[in-house]
Amino acid sequence: MKIAVDEEKCCGAGQCVLLAPEVFDQRDDDGVVILLDEQPPENLYGPVREAADVCPAAAIGVSEGA
Ligand code: SF4
Repeated sequence: MKIAVDEEKCCGAGQCVLLAPEVFDQRDDDGVVILLDEQPPENLYGPVREAADVCPAAAIGVSEGA
């Protein structure tokens, strides 16, 4: 799995951080997402997929199989 985030789209809702804090963080000043781990371990695939699904800005892209 490989993750990409679009900082331009991110509206700082923080859903991704709640679901997968090992993978996503937010900038202190404006809340825009920070990608901590673009190739997370397999045990985090579930929460990462869920984060991509619930992100209100569709700012999280997940490529499977990488
Ligand atoms: S859930 Fe989406 S909009 Fe919210 S902080 Fe994460 S990437 Fe940004």
